[in-house]
Amino acid sequence: MLEERCDVVVVGLGAMGAATLYQLAKAGAKAVGIDRYAPPHDQGSSHGDTRITRLAVGEGAAYVPLVRRSQQIWRELEARDGDALFEQCGVLVMTSGATHTSHHGAADFTLSTIELARTYGIAHEVLTAEQLRARFPQFAPLRDDTIAYYEPEGGFVRPERCIAAQLKAARELGADVIAGVTVSAVESMGNVVRVRAGDRTVVADKVVVCAGMWSAELLGEPFKSLLKVCRQQLFWFKLEEPMIFPEVSPSFILSHGPLDTDFCYGFPPIPGEGSMKIATEQYMALSEPDSLDRTVSDADVAAMFRTHVAGKIAGVTAERVKARVCTYTVTPDYGFIIDEHPALKNVTAVSACSGHGFKHSAAIGEAVAQRCLSGKSQIDLSAFSLSRFS
Ligand SMILES: Cc1cc2nc3c(=O)[nH]c(=O)nc-3n(C[C@H](O)[C@H](O)[C@H](O)COP(=O)(O)OP(=O)(O)OC[C@H]3O[C@@H](n4cnc5c(N)ncnc54)[C@H](O)[C@@H]3O)c2cc1C
Repeated sequence: MLEERCDVVVVGLGAMGAATLYQLAKAGAKAVGIDRYAPPHDQGSSHGDTRITRLAVGEGAAYVPLVRRSQQIWRELEARDGDALFEQCGVLVMTSGATHTSHHGAADFTLSTIELARTYGIAHEVLTAEQLRARFPQFAPLRDDTIAYYEPEGGFVRPERCIAAQLKAARELGADVIAGVTVSAVESMGNVVRVRAGDRTVVADKVVVCAGMWSAELLGEPFKSLLKVCRQQLFWFKLEEPMIFPEVSPSFILSHGPLDTDFCYGFPPIPGEGSMKIATEQYMALSEPDSLDRTVSDADVAAMFRTHVAGKIAGVTAERVKARVCTYTVTPDYGFIIDEHPALKNVTAVSACSGHGFKHSAAIGEAVAQRCLSGKSQIDLSAFSLSRFS
C-alpha cells in the first residue's frame, strides 16, 4: 500500500475540482487531484460542448461576483494556453406568454434578471417582441407579448476545454493528477484527512470533495438527504439551409408558457457544425449515478422538437445531429453547497451544481483554494453554507 502526503487532495476533477486543483497549484500548495475517469469526460455533469454564462445571474445576487471573476479567469487561461474558452456572443433571457414562470428557484426569471442587471450596473437592453424579431430573426415566431433581456457580455463557455486547460495548468504548476481511480473513502483522523483510492492512500491537511452526482455516496449525511440527481437530455438539431441565424447569435433562455417545464435554453450554431444545441430541464424523475440511463430515443428527440422548438425558433429542422445525457445534482433550494463537512474535520464539500454551476466554477475553485490555504476567501461564500437547510 502506497501512502503519500500532500497539502490538499481534490476528489473529482470536473468543473469544480479542476478549477480548485489549478488554483491550489497556482498558490503554491502541494495538491493531488483524483478522478474515477479521465477528465474531461462525458460521464458526469460537465460535458456537451457549451454552457451559458451571464453576469445578471437571475438565481441571486450572491452569484454575481463569482461569474464576474470566472470570466476573468477564463481570459487568463486563454492567454496562458491559446485555446478559446469563453465566447462573448451575448445572451438573451426571454419570457413569451403572459405568465412569467420560475426557474432555478427564482420566480419570474426574466424580470429578476432585469432587476439584478439594473442593481449591479450590468450592461443590457430590454427588447420588445418587435425589436427582438428585427435583431434576431431566429426568434421571430415568438408571441407578441414576449419580453427579452439582452446582455452583450454574456455568452457561453466550453466546458471540456475549460477543464482540460485548468488540469494542464495545474500539472505544469506541480499538481499531481491521478485519473481512472475511484476514491472509496475520505476519513478524518485528528488534524489530517486520509483518502483511500484504489491501492493508494493519500494523507492531506485538507480534502475538497467535488464529486458531482457521486457526492452523496462519498459524503453521507446530510448530503444524502439534500442532494437529488436529475437526468437531463441535450439535443443538437440540424439547421435549415440557408441559415437564418445572424453571424453573432446569442445563447438564450426561453420561458414560453405558464409551467416550470415550459422552458428551454440553447446556443448559437457553432461555425462549421450546421446544428444548434437546445435543451430543457426536468426535476421530477430522479436517477442513481451508477445506473443512469444514457440513451436518448427518437421519441425523446421528436418530443423535444415538438414542445420547445416548433413554432418558437425558426431555422431549425427536427433532424437529430446528436444527443447526450447529463445530470444535475440539485439541492432543495436549487442553490449551491460550498461548506465544511459537519462531521468530517478539514473536509470541504463543493456541490455547486443544480444546473447552473459551470459559469461560476473558475471563481469557486479560486475561493475554495483560498479557504483551504488561509481559512477565508476573497469572495463571500456564506450564501452557500449548509446551515440554511437546518
Ligand atoms: C445538461 C446540463 C446543462 C447545464 N447548463 C449549464 C449552463 O448553461 N450554465 C452553467 O453555468 N451551468 C450549467 N450546468 C451546470 C454545470 O455544468 C454543473 O454545475 C457543473 O458542470 C458541475 O460540475 P461538478 O464539478 O460539480 O461535477 P462533475 O463535472 O460531474 O465532476 C465530478 C467529478 O467527480 C468525479 N468523481 C465522482 N466520484 C468520484 C470518486 N469517488 N472518486 C474519484 N472521482 C470521482 C467524476 O468522475 C467527475 O469527474 C449544466 C449542467 C448540465 C448537466
